[in-house]
Amino acid sequence: MKIILAKTAGFCFGVKRAVEMAFKHQNTLNTYTLGPIIHNDTVINHLIQKGISPIDNLENKTVNTLIIRSHGVKPEIYEEAKSKDIQLVDATCPYVKKIHRLVQEHYTKGHRIVIVGNKTHPEVEGINGWAHNDCIIIKDVVELEALNLTQSSTKYLIVAQTTYKKESVEQVVKWFDAKNYAYQYINTICNATKERQQEAVDIAKQAECMLVIGSHYSSNTLKLYEISKAYCANSHCIADADELTREMVGNCENIGITAGASTPASVIDAVTQKLLKMNQQEA
Ligand code: SF4
Repeated sequence: MKIILAKTAGFCFGVKRAVEMAFKHQNTLNTYTLGPIIHNDTVINHLIQKGISPIDNLENKTVNTLIIRSHGVKPEIYEEAKSKDIQLVDATCPYVKKIHRLVQEHYTKGHRIVIVGNKTHPEVEGINGWAHNDCIIIKDVVELEALNLTQSSTKYLIVAQTTYKKESVEQVVKWFDAKNYAYQYINTICNATKERQQEAVDIAKQAECMLVIGSHYSSNTLKLYEISKAYCANSHCIADADELTREMVGNCENIGITAGASTPASVIDAVTQKLLKMNQQEA
């Protein structure tokens, strides 16, 4: 059996940084993360054991230290934490921080901000906050068309959710171009996602069985699974080694493995070990 493990499998830079920052504050009294630090139950439960639980807001809790996850938050959270004398550990990914700065700067100049992304995603909600929750948020060019935006003297700034589909963003930019509207497009799509997706394509093309490891409710994992399935029909999305079955692998010789941005290295290792064990039992 040959295992082809993607180099880009697992935590991206921003998630790795956020998780490490959170663990540095383990066993510190009344420390919480605002929302789950990542979409991975193993990591969340490990943090809870170390005394760091997720909370949804700052109401009805004694909070000494608040960890902001890589998705980032709106400015009101910084203000609320300051007014309540809460120490902030800001693990916002620097790439997301850059979007906050851009959006704030352009909004202050009077530009209309267009975010191409999912309006209920925490990252997008956070970005919107840096323009007083006044951004135009669209998931694609169809939604943009439906808005009936009129030509105005206002300049538009177009940014995207960091993990968003490049094609959707490009179609939106083309729309502004075709209409001759004054706009500036700043590409804010993160390469980590692009590279992970491209590597999934490359591996899926050679694999007889493709394993995509990650939470069933992580959007980037599901996207990787979708991509893998397009090139390798025998693709499976598994949360961890427990979900890996012999039936999935069958008699396949080339097994490809990739993993979503929130999948810890320990989970990827456990899947690899189980595969090797299955292979030894077969021999
Ligand atoms: S996907 Fe990119 S932008 Fe998002 S946390 Fe990871 S490194 Fe940061």
